[in-house]
Amino acid sequence: MRKKQFKAESQKLLDMMINSIYTHKEIFLREIISNSSDAIDKLCYTAMNAGDTSISRSDRRIHIHADKENRTLTVSDNGIGMDQEDLENNLGVIARSGSLNFKKDAGESEDMDIIGQFGVGFYSAFMVADEVSVITRKYGGDGAWMWKSAGADGYTVEPTAKEEVGTDIIIHIKPDGEEESYSEYLETYRLRNLIKKYSDYIRYPIVLDAEKTRKVDVPDSDEPKYETYIEEETVNSMIPLWQRNKDEVTQEELNEFYKDKFFDMKDPALTIRVDVDGSISYKALLFIPSATPMGYYTKEYQKGLELYSSGVMIMERCEDLIPEHFRFVKGVVDSRDLSLNISRELLQHNRQLRTIAANIEKKIRQELKKLQDNEREKYEKFWESFGLQLKYGIVSEYGANRDVLKDLLMYYSSRENKLQSLKEYVEQMPEEQKYIYFAVGESVSMLDNLPQAEQLKDKGWSILYMTDEVDEFVVNMLGEYEGKQFKSVNDKDLGVEDEEEKKDTELKEEENKVMLDYLRDCLDGKVTAVRLSHKLKSHPVCLTADGEVSLEMEKYFSTIPGDGPDIKAQRVLELNPTHKAFYMLLDAWQLDKDRCARLGELLYDQALLIAGLKVENPARLTELMWEML
Ligand code: ADP
Repeated sequence: MRKKQFKAESQKLLDMMINSIYTHKEIFLREIISNSSDAIDKLCYTAMNAGDTSISRSDRRIHIHADKENRTLTVSDNGIGMDQEDLENNLGVIARSGSLNFKKDAGESEDMDIIGQFGVGFYSAFMVADEVSVITRKYGGDGAWMWKSAGADGYTVEPTAKEEVGTDIIIHIKPDGEEESYSEYLETYRLRNLIKKYSDYIRYPIVLDAEKTRKVDVPDSDEPKYETYIEEETVNSMIPLWQRNKDEVTQEELNEFYKDKFFDMKDPALTIRVDVDGSISYKALLFIPSATPMGYYTKEYQKGLELYSSGVMIMERCEDLIPEHFRFVKGVVDSRDLSLNISRELLQHNRQLRTIAANIEKKIRQELKKLQDNEREKYEKFWESFGLQLKYGIVSEYGANRDVLKDLLMYYSSRENKLQSLKEYVEQMPEEQKYIYFAVGESVSMLDNLPQAEQLKDKGWSILYMTDEVDEFVVNMLGEYEGKQFKSVNDKDLGVEDEEEKKDTELKEEENKVMLDYLRDCLDGKVTAVRLSHKLKSHPVCLTADGEVSLEMEKYFSTIPGDGPDIKAQRVLELNPTHKAFYMLLDAWQLDKDRCARLGELLYDQALLIAGLKVENPARLTELMWEML
């Protein structure tokens, strides 16, 4: 029989499993059982849709048998089974797309990560096995098949005999090594514990062939004699976690459930339980991951909650249950008011579902707000992972969700040196401060040095530093918060200026109009105006923009690939009329116009640098600097 090779990616994953240093090898059983449970779900679902009444839910079970002599652990289910093609497709390659694209070489920590992130499933058996066989027969198919692999050198698939539809996974347990023992996975007490710990909520009975001992009477002997025998024992309680009373379920159980079901290595950051009894009754168990899942901000990520009707899964990923801005939330929803065989199309237009979705959105918002109010550190971690998502939520759908989300926003406050909510910012505004000031740029440290912010800082007013590309759109979409307008530090008029000073500057600008226009013309289309500014204190220049498009927006649009519209900001070079540099300009204007132009050029380049923009010709800048020195 010719051995087939695993697909390259699977090979890598397999090698990792075989040589695994992962300390939680025990999770392999949970993975195998969870596959069995899924297979039974699939069978019930398929049979129901086909109108096949011969398959009854109550006959479904997962059976576990350990054979110490042969060192095998067999997990059997009467689920949907697999045909030859399924075996090739499911066990010859990694099902979950791209699992391994993320990792180049398997180091220790990555080893952990991949198991956590993707729940490697079936392959995890190779952490404890030196050979795995799968004997399976598919519902509606003909014939049975055996898949077999000792890991590294590929696998075989051949016909075999099996009467009942379903799958047996036969795990040949590795011999005990010097450092590690594997025999424990053949012991009843260990298996029982593992099932209880990880698979208690599985809705089908997990029947363990438990090894028990009993005393036997031996006639005419005082020596007690014991014999071992096998007795079937249903180990799991089968009640889904979300159906159990709140106080009956520990956070640890919830964490385990989450990690198992949603393939995360870390405990969730937040668990939300919803129990609604009303015109529509439902229970929901929701989780917010503690870190951004890999590929979260890509198209590959799919949102959705699992949908159940009285404990029976009717949809694996119901997208309509969760709004886009909370798409990081994972979990299950179970309602007895939903019909079991409702079709997907119908579900989409289902009124009950819409009501549930609306409630869930409200609940998530509430819980996040609570976290923000009471557990700031945790909220900041959440914000780090999913803040960007909330910002997108504000700008998308023409701002339809801004009121749901605006209180959840956090921005870095220049005065407090930490993240603040808009509410906190507004509450701390001195009475004479009219606006919510913000600055958008690459980093907090860059923004903290913006010349145009100096005046505000001198007054002791706080500026919100925004460092995501989407931030400016967020501000535009919000317009105001609690009646306070947002104002960019780049704005011509910050609303702090002394009226006298302002007049002064205006006068000076009038006086020097010819020179300023000359400088603008020398800059040859790079700026639409050169102006004097009353905003600047110790700095000679800054760059701002007139009109709708800001410098940050220009930067953002320039990163969009393709040949979209070339959106440019109308740049304005602002000069500080009280700075030495300005007097130098005035002198040059009298004595040497060329020098004046070169000074203008130099100041423009400096303004670019401060604004975090690229200098168009760095060599020219160096030349100019030496010339002026
Ligand atoms: P996952 O379960 O996450 O998809 P696995 O590697 O655990 O990944 O399993 C790969 C696939 O093999 C499953 O999606 C399923 O189609 C199939 N499979 C695994 N175990 C069984 C089983 N006991 N019965 C039927 N199909 C199974």
